Amino acid sequence: MINETPRVRFAPSPTGYLHVGGLRTALYNYLFARRNKGKFILRIEDTDRKRFVEGAVENLITSLKWCGLEFDEGPDSGGELGPYLQSQRLHIYDHHVQELIKSGHAYYCFCTSERLNALREEQQRQKLPQAKYDKHCLHLSKDEIENNLASGIEKVIRLNVESNMKIIFDDIIRGRVEFDSNNIDDQILIKSDGYPTYHLANVVDDHLMKITHVIRGEEWLSSTPKHVLLYDFFNWEKPQFAHLPLLLNPDRSKLSKRQGDVAVEDYRAKGYLKEALVNFVALLGWNAGDDKEFYYLDELIEKFSLERVNKSGAVFDLEKLNWLNAEHLRKKSDEEILQLLKEEVRQSSFADIQYSDEYLLKVISSMKERVSFVHEYLSKSPYFFKEPNEYEQAAVAKSWKPETPDQLKKLCETFAQLDNPTKEDFEHAFIKTVDELNIGKGKLIHPLRLAVSGLSTGPGMFDILFILGKDEVIRRINKAIDTLKN
Ligand code: GLU
Repeated sequence: MINETPRVRFAPSPTGYLHVGGLRTALYNYLFARRNKGKFILRIEDTDRKRFVEGAVENLITSLKWCGLEFDEGPDSGGELGPYLQSQRLHIYDHHVQELIKSGHAYYCFCTSERLNALREEQQRQKLPQAKYDKHCLHLSKDEIENNLASGIEKVIRLNVESNMKIIFDDIIRGRVEFDSNNIDDQILIKSDGYPTYHLANVVDDHLMKITHVIRGEEWLSSTPKHVLLYDFFNWEKPQFAHLPLLLNPDRSKLSKRQGDVAVEDYRAKGYLKEALVNFVALLGWNAGDDKEFYYLDELIEKFSLERVNKSGAVFDLEKLNWLNAEHLRKKSDEEILQLLKEEVRQSSFADIQYSDEYLLKVISSMKERVSFVHEYLSKSPYFFKEPNEYEQAAVAKSWKPETPDQLKKLCETFAQLDNPTKEDFEHAFIKTVDELNIGKGKLIHPLRLAVSGLSTGPGMFDILFILGKDEVIRRINKAIDTLKN
C-alpha cells in the first residue's frame, strides 16, 4: 500500500467506441485506485475537434459502466476538480500557456504551412532522423510578435525545448527511462484553432486534478519527456508514471481491427460476459505471480499491483477469453443465468413465446455444462424454445428406418398412459416399449431424439422429454412421423 491517497485517471479521447486497450488502461487504474483506497477519475480528452464523434462520450461511459468500473469523479459522476471534459477547460489552458510564454518556455509561431512543408522536405533530403521545427519564430523581435498578433495572422504556440539535455524519469514498470532533448520537437501546445494539444491539456489537468499516478499505454511513453519538461517549466511536482505494455495479435503485431474485434461493444454484442472480459483484460500484462487465471473483480482489487505488470507486449488470445467466458458462465447460479437467458430470449426470434421461469430453470440445468455463452442455450438447444421444423439430414438417413414410424407410434401409446411423468417414468416407459418390440435401445433412441429435437446430439434424452412434457413430446413425435414418413 502507498502512503498518500492516490488519485488516478482514465483519460480517453472519445473516438466513438471503447478499445479493449482502453478498457485495460481503465481497469488497471481502477484496480490501483481501489486497492490503495484512492480515487478513480474519468477525464474526457476531447480537444481534437476534427475527430469529434457525436455520442462518443456517452458510449464510452456506458461501456465502462457495463464493465462495472465506477468512477469517483468524472463528467457524470461530479467532483470538485472539474469540469472533466477538456473542451470546457479552454480558458484554463490559455492562462497556463501565457505563463510559459512569459517565462520563455513557450513561444508564438507564425510559420505558414508552406514554410513548414519546405522545412520538412529539406530535412528529409538531408536524411535527418526526424523532422523538427527550426525555432525560426523563437527569434522574432517583440515588435514583430506584437504586430503579427495584432494583424490576426494564423499562429500556434510551441514548447521551447532546449537542446543537449537528458530528460530522465522513473517509470514504475520500465524503471529509469532516458530521452535526449535533441530528439524532441518544439511541440505545438496551442493549435491554430485555439485548442490545446494533448500534451499541454494533459499535463495541466493532471496537475490541477491532483493526479498522483499516470497509468497509461506504452504508446504514450515517447510523449512523456515533453510532459516532464512541462512539469519542470511550470515548477510542478511530477506524478509517478507507469506505462502499460502493448497489446499484440497472436502473430505479435500490434493489436488491430484487421485481425479481430477491438471494441468492448463488439464483445458485449457477441455475448461475452462482463466478468469474463474484465478477467481476461486484467491478465493482459499482469499476473499475481502464480498461475491462477480465473478472477472476479474484487479478487483482482485485492491482488493487483503495478509492480507485477510486465514490460513485454501482451498477446490477445481469443481462446483464453472464450474459456474464461465458459468458466464464468458455469460458476453463475441458475437464478443468475435465468435473468441473462430471459434477456437473451427477449432479444431473439422466440421473444413472442412465453416460457415460465420454472421451465427455463430446467433448460438451464440440463444445458449448463454444454454452453460457453448464454446465446448458446438458444443456438445449441433451439428445441427447448420451439418445435423442430427440420431434422438433421445425415442423422435421418442413418437412423430413420421404414419400421421407425410404427415403433414410435407404439412408444407414444405407452407415453400417453403416463400421468405427469418424471424423467425416470419416461425412461421406464421407453425400456418397456423396446422390450415389447424386442429391439435394441439404440434402434429407437436416435429416432426419438431426432423427432423431439431435430438434432442428433444434446443432453440426456430423458431430461429432454421431462423438460418438454408428455403432451409436447407426443405432439412432436407425431409431427416427425408425418413429416419424415418413409
Ligand atoms: N487522451 C489520451 C488517450 O486517448 C490519454 C493518454 C494519457 O493517459 O495520457 O489515450
